[in-house]
Amino acid sequence: MDQTVTDFDPSPAVRAFLARAHGHFIGGRLVPGGGAALPVYNPATGQVISEVADGTAADVDRAVAAAREAFESEGWRRMRPADRERILVRLAELVERDGETLAEIETLNQGKSIALSRGVEVGHSVEFIRYMAGWATKIEGSTLDVSIPFPPGAQYRAMTLREPVGVVGAIIPWNFPLVMAAWKIAPALACGCTVVLKPAEETPLTALRLAELCLEAGIPPGVVNVVTGRGETTGAALARHPGIDKVAFTGSTEVGKLIGEAAVRNMTRFSLELGGKSPVIVLDDVSPDVAAEGAAAAIFFNQGQVCTAGSRLYVQSRIFDQVVERLAGAAQALRIGPGWDPANQINPLVSRRHKERVTGYIRSGAEEGARILAGGDEYAGEGFFVRPTVLVDVDHRMKVVREEIFGPVIAAMPFDDLDEVARKANDTSFGLGASIWSNDHRKIMALVGKVKAGSVWVNAHNLVDANLPFGGFKQSGIGREMGRAALDLYTETKSVCFAY
Ligand code: NAD
Repeated sequence: MDQTVTDFDPSPAVRAFLARAHGHFIGGRLVPGGGAALPVYNPATGQVISEVADGTAADVDRAVAAAREAFESEGWRRMRPADRERILVRLAELVERDGETLAEIETLNQGKSIALSRGVEVGHSVEFIRYMAGWATKIEGSTLDVSIPFPPGAQYRAMTLREPVGVVGAIIPWNFPLVMAAWKIAPALACGCTVVLKPAEETPLTALRLAELCLEAGIPPGVVNVVTGRGETTGAALARHPGIDKVAFTGSTEVGKLIGEAAVRNMTRFSLELGGKSPVIVLDDVSPDVAAEGAAAAIFFNQGQVCTAGSRLYVQSRIFDQVVERLAGAAQALRIGPGWDPANQINPLVSRRHKERVTGYIRSGAEEGARILAGGDEYAGEGFFVRPTVLVDVDHRMKVVREEIFGPVIAAMPFDDLDEVARKANDTSFGLGASIWSNDHRKIMALVGKVKAGSVWVNAHNLVDANLPFGGFKQSGIGREMGRAALDLYTETKSVCFAY
C-alpha cells in the first residue's frame, strides 16, 4: 500500500451515528428488529464500525403494512403534486445540508474515495432527487379518439390516467448505496407511491439516514420505510410479499432472476437493473494516450464496482500494443489506499468475500492462459484491496471475458474490422453499456447501430444523467430508470372511456 492505514477520525456526528443501536425505519420511526444484529465493516481496515438489524419476515410484514397504510390513507398520493414536488425538493436540500456526514459514512462503510462520496453519492443524489421532484407536477395521460361502433350514433371520449402503482419493494446493491436508494425512492415518491427499501447488507447505513431525512422533509410517516438485513432472508421476504404492488431491483443477474420469478407468482410488477460486461471499443484513429486514459477510467472508477464498468477492451490491431502498454502503466501508477484520503485513487473493495471473488477471477484468468500486464498479485495486509489488473492474451471462452467480475480487472483483445468487433462486443449475455472511441462519424454511427446495449457512449464511458434513460438489453435487465422513462416503472395506466 502506498499509504499506511491509520484510523480515520470521523466527525462527532458520524461517530454518534455509527454508535447507534440501529433498528429498521418503519412508519416514521426507528423500531428494533426482531432478529440478531448484523456487523457493518470498514473495508479499508476490516474492522466492525457499526451494527444493524438483520430483518426477519415479521419485520418485512410490519414495514409493508406501514407502507400499505400510508398508501391507502392517500395522504401522499392525493397530496397536490406541487406539494409533493416541494417536499422532494426539500429532501434534496436536506441531503445537501448533511452531505459531509453522509459522504463520511459512505466512505467508511463502502470504502470508496471521499471525493466520490461527496461528488457522486451525495452530489448526484441531490441532483437526481431534485430532478425527480419536478416530475411530480408533470405526470400526464392522453386523450384518445376511439372507434367503438355500437350502439349506432353513440359518441365516446377516452383518456388515460397515470396512477401510482402502489407499495414499492425496493432492493438495492452496495456499489453506490446512497445513489441507488435515491434512484428508487425519488421516482416512486414523485409518482405518489410508498416504499419499503432494503439496502444491501454490506452498506445499510446511508439508507437509514436518508429515511430520517425524508421524515424531516415532510414526507408522511410510512411513505418511506427501510428494513435492513440479508438478501436471501429479508430481501427474499420482501420480493415475494403479496402486500407489495411492485418490486424494483438493482443487483446481480442471478438474484434478479429470483426476484422476477417471485414477483411473477403474485403478478407483482417488477423492474430489474442487473449486471454487465460492457465493451470499450477503440478504433485506430484514436491517440493511444487518449484511449488508455479512457479505458483506465472506464474500468477503475469505483474500483470497477460499477454495473457499466468497461471490463472488456477491444482495440484495433494497429494500436493494440501501444494502448495496452499505456493502460498497464496507468494501472501501476494508481495510488492505492483508504478512501478518506482523496489522493488515493484505488480504494478497497466492499467486503472480504468480494475481494476473494475478484482475486479468484484473476487466478482463473491466469490458469486459463491470460497474461497479466499489471496487478494480479494479491495485496497482503488489512483491508480489502485489489490491485488494478490488466489482462491480455484472453479470448471469449475464458471466464474473465464472459462473466461479470465487478472489480478493477480489464481484459484486452485486438480486432481488425468493425463487423468483427461488433460481433465480439455482442458475444455476451449482458447488454448494459458500451463505449466507442473514434473520430470517424460514419464508423461510430455504424457501431452505435450494431451494439446491443442500453447505453452507448462515444469518446467517454460511464456517463449517467438524471434525464437519460438507463437500463439493460438482454440479461442486463428489464425496464429503464431515470428520465421520463422512470415514470413508467412507478405508475399504472388506467383507460377511461365516456359515452355521451
Ligand atoms: P446482489 O444481487 O448480490 O444483491 C443486490 C441486493 O439483492 C442486495 O440488497 C441483496 O441483499 C439482495 N439479495 C440477494 N439475494 C437475494 C434474494 N435471494 N432475494 C432478494 N434479495 C436478495 O448484488 P450485489 O453484489 O449487491 O451488487 C452487485 C451487482 O449489482 C452487480 O451484478 C452489478 O452489475 C449490479 N448492479 C447493477 C446496476 C444497474 O443499474 N444495472 C447498478 C449497480 C449494480
